[in-house]
Amino acid sequence: MIIDTHAHLDFPDYKTDLESVLSRAKDADVNCIINVGTSLASSKKSVTLANRFHNIYASIGIHPHDASKVSEQDWQALESLITEPKVIAVGETGLDYYRNRSPHEDQQRIFHKHLTLAKNHNLPVIIHCREASDDCLKILDEHRNGVFKGVVHCFSGTVEVAKKCIELGLYVSFAGPITFSNANTLREVAKSVPVERLLLETDCPFLSPQPKRGERNEPAYLSFIIPVLANVYGLSVQDIKRITTFNAYKLFGIGEAGHDGKIAYAIRNSLYINLTNRCTNVCDFCMRETYPIVKGHHLGIKKEPTAEEVLEAIGDPGGYDEVVFCGYGEPTERLDVLIPVARFLKSKGKRIRLDTNGHGDLIHGRPIMQELKGLVDTICISLNADTADKYKEICKPVFGERTYPALIQFIKDAKQVIPSVQVSIVDMPGVDVEKCERIARELGVDFRVRKYNVLG
Ligand code: SF4
Repeated sequence: MIIDTHAHLDFPDYKTDLESVLSRAKDADVNCIINVGTSLASSKKSVTLANRFHNIYASIGIHPHDASKVSEQDWQALESLITEPKVIAVGETGLDYYRNRSPHEDQQRIFHKHLTLAKNHNLPVIIHCREASDDCLKILDEHRNGVFKGVVHCFSGTVEVAKKCIELGLYVSFAGPITFSNANTLREVAKSVPVERLLLETDCPFLSPQPKRGERNEPAYLSFIIPVLANVYGLSVQDIKRITTFNAYKLFGIGEAGHDGKIAYAIRNSLYINLTNRCTNVCDFCMRETYPIVKGHHLGIKKEPTAEEVLEAIGDPGGYDEVVFCGYGEPTERLDVLIPVARFLKSKGKRIRLDTNGHGDLIHGRPIMQELKGLVDTICISLNADTADKYKEICKPVFGERTYPALIQFIKDAKQVIPSVQVSIVDMPGVDVEKCERIARELGVDFRVRKYNVLG
């Protein structure tokens, strides 16, 4: 399933063939659509559409172009729609200083009203912002109050503006223009947006993507936008579909949540194995307990799988470049499962990577590296700090003082046995990256800095 989070199917453009448009959307896997109101009349039509089709939801709002025409009566009529069961957002609202069809003061006044309405009903806001970033961000900041949620649709701002939107907790979506051959700058902006904050939209009937540019747009044309976004993020088309669907669920509460904890899951062309949620660290940056989601996969597992269950979840491992024991927990906690599964995968000629906190020896009370010999091709060990004290502070290991020296020994042992050894740190404030890199160099292993909050 994929979700078009911004469509205007109530527009006259679809008067004669809406059913066919929806059928093509379904064929393109677009199973959920948010129809976004741009006026009182259009908001009413959005609600009607949502009541008619199970997979359409409505957002109600008045476009900034029409801000000067909104009477108090209109506003009250709009407000009365908010309790309709399929109204899931407020907008489109915002500021448009490009076309300037309403005076700025009117646009700002009506924008404030939308934001208050959304906040009072705990709904997300769908924001239109064109050539008005400074005022838009200022107004959004005034309404923040710690519970702000929304999306800036058809984003056309700079990297700096995108960064500020992300800091405000907003999502960002890109429509057809991201596919245009001359849109390199926009694609660079998209790259700066964490994929966890990305949504899909067409803004149909406007802004058709390549190769439909100039024609009427429709939800099925998301299929032209998704590969471009996959390319921008270095992810697969499936990754973008799954992640943006989950993001839409998080923001709007519609579509698929992906609640089930996954044992085996794909990102790009790698297969990841999630053996446990237990870990002997409690790292400051870890979201294992609060938000066990990686690239749209839900990794919170209620029951740890047996080797048979893992093999069943893997199915045919044929198509993957590598298999990674990773997940939200420490894989060597499950050495009894990791080893037979790795042995099976090796027999199928798979490359195997183990991502570990390096506590395996402490967990099992014996050196475990020899047991991984011949099974693991690459091992990535989290170093996370340049001193034992710093490590204790950041990772809070259950083994206390003993942990950091044991971790260093684990890296040395890995160097003797595993063909490729890498240590990593997370670029958190207070971590001395240079010193960590020097430690890696002295140990003769590769070094990688992982971005804070970027997983998978
Ligand atoms: S080692 Fe990994 S799984 Fe364990 S707490 Fe730290 S970040 Fe989380």
